Amino acid sequence: MNGIQIKGVTKRYRLARQEILALQQIDVNISPGEFIAVVGPSGCGKSTLMRLVAGLHPVTTGSITVEGRPVSGPVTDVGIVFQSPVLLDWLNTLDNVLFQADIRGLPVAEYRARAMELLRQVSLQDFANSYPYELSGGMRQRAAIARALLHDPPLLLMDEPFGALDALTREQMRLDLEQLWVTTRKTVIFITHSVDEAVLLADRVLVMGPRPGRIVRELRVNLPRVRGLEARRDRRFFDYCGEINEIFFSQGVLRQADEPGGAQAPKP
Ligand code: ADP
Repeated sequence: MNGIQIKGVTKRYRLARQEILALQQIDVNISPGEFIAVVGPSGCGKSTLMRLVAGLHPVTTGSITVEGRPVSGPVTDVGIVFQSPVLLDWLNTLDNVLFQADIRGLPVAEYRARAMELLRQVSLQDFANSYPYELSGGMRQRAAIARALLHDPPLLLMDEPFGALDALTREQMRLDLEQLWVTTRKTVIFITHSVDEAVLLADRVLVMGPRPGRIVRELRVNLPRVRGLEARRDRRFFDYCGEINEIFFSQGVLRQADEPGGAQAPKP
């Protein structure tokens, strides 16, 4: 079966003096080409879930299948984008993208045309010869996205990819990622703290509660594509965001400012 099947997954980290239950009984099926956003408070296990799907950590119980194969070690047919773009300072943008082919032992020269096409798709075609220090934060993250897609993986895992960007750049990246996804239809797992971003990007939002990490709600987002800027004015966008924020209120992740432990109102 293609796509991703996560069945009864629990993850415990064993430290010297304690055990951390990071994920508890996760059951999710993700269809090929589906865009999934995972939203939840810090420490709820979002990155852990991503690392388990990528095979970077073993599950404690349960099983994960990616593109029909049970995950038992690092999954190769995947593109990963982290919050920090991790580009190599001594390589230009094109060579940073081609590095994906290099580390996989693929014929680098044969991937040049594809790398240039990907740079065009992320609007970096004029910066192929620039070095990372010559690029803005958003441009570096675009290069990292192009690099993640070079080997044409069916699955793209994105862990807070826009978390370090300023608000305007982040909005532009969101618009461009949707456009890229519409043309490539990769299966995407996108991890974020931002409720807006999750709703605007995803077909389905998995809302996670505080530790130990569980999925407390799955929300199907029925907003037409391409959502672009328009979706921000759609009544349903407000309803979806409101529904998720309600969950965070009920779980104690968000509090009213005048509740004990909430933010103090500024003194007049
Ligand atoms: P999130 O991405 O939602 O912020 P994480 O998946 O990073 O959450 O972490 C979930 C919990 O697991 C946290 O309590 C964190 O401290 C713990 N954790 C994450 N990675 C490790 C690790 N490699 N070893 C031990 N504990 C970890």
